[in-house]
Amino acid sequence: MINVTKTFLPEQSEYQAILKRAWDTGWMTNRGVLVKELEDKLKELLNVPNVIAMTNGTLPLQIAIKAMDLSGEIITTPFSYVATASSIAWERCEPVFVDIHPEYLTIDETKLEEAITSSTTAILATHVFGNPCHVEAIEAIAKKHDLKVIYDAAHCFGVAYKGQSLFNYGDASTCSFHATKVFHTGEGGAVFTKDKELYNTFFAMHNFGHDGPEAFQSIGINAKMSELQGAMGLAVLPYMKKIINARRTICEIYNEAFKDTELQLLKLRSETEWNFSYFPVIFKSEEQLLRVKDALNSAQIFPRRYFYPSLNTLEYVNNVKCPESESIAPRVLCLPMYPGLTISDVNRILTIVIEEL
Ligand SMILES: *Cc1c(COP(=O)(O)O)cnc(C)c1O
Repeated sequence: MINVTKTFLPEQSEYQAILKRAWDTGWMTNRGVLVKELEDKLKELLNVPNVIAMTNGTLPLQIAIKAMDLSGEIITTPFSYVATASSIAWERCEPVFVDIHPEYLTIDETKLEEAITSSTTAILATHVFGNPCHVEAIEAIAKKHDLKVIYDAAHCFGVAYKGQSLFNYGDASTCSFHATKVFHTGEGGAVFTKDKELYNTFFAMHNFGHDGPEAFQSIGINAKMSELQGAMGLAVLPYMKKIINARRTICEIYNEAFKDTELQLLKLRSETEWNFSYFPVIFKSEEQLLRVKDALNSAQIFPRRYFYPSLNTLEYVNNVKCPESESIAPRVLCLPMYPGLTISDVNRILTIVIEEL
């Protein structure tokens, strides 16, 4: 069986050797040596000033909204995983959807300003599939209207834009280290911010608001990464170059095979050093997508409909029309891509896709 992705696992002995250090200290969570070491290595590898490792990639979104004291309306993208929109609603803010660019698939920055009202407090946009939003335009609009900018950078591990980590853009960026993501800790995630004060607020909030063992500086929640997760991160991290290169190879084969077909492929923003996190293909119609998906499923190949449905159609949000997103979401399918997927499997997948077009 071939799924859209397969979790990269290091040798079990490597994981256990790192885990032994947690055993030796008898310390399983509350920011033990492994989590701190993982954060230090992430800062060094990604060249980012601050990071807080967390339990998953959703709590950092909720904490960011809380830490910035956002209320009212938050402008967001309809084309993302549900966590982007649900985190806004969960924090009792209103997600206001702005349509996406039909080729980059990120929020359409030219439509942002017309969505801003006196209740707007922030923009929460997703660098979907690791493709950067138009960060300069978004920053300029945010400045002009005094809005905060949060990036859901769940797909962006290892992505650089204009020579620096994509995590360095916006007031804060969040990442997911879920087992299906490019870098993973089983479950896990992180928040990144260049703002030291905001970092301090995030830090307290991810640990119940603690300011020392007996004092509290704010409201908080428990989003602490455990040592078990930290150990997985430290075991996977040395393989990141190999993982990304293996993905690149598969991506190049797909690209070459599909370049003369009617499939629409992801257009990357220029000056992006990508991480090959997903291989989305956009079909002419949903019927064509379903036909290809059925044919792949019959061969025990299971691509995923990332991202469907368009989030502006969720039941708990105000349904404003987003024609581009509503057109693309039913037609986009992510093909299997992971280290260990053999070239012959890749060829089998692309042959079935092309045959069914
Ligand atoms: C995976 C994902 C999340 C959620 O991350 P978890 O670690 O699963 O909580 C949020 N946003 C996007 C865009 C994602 O793909």
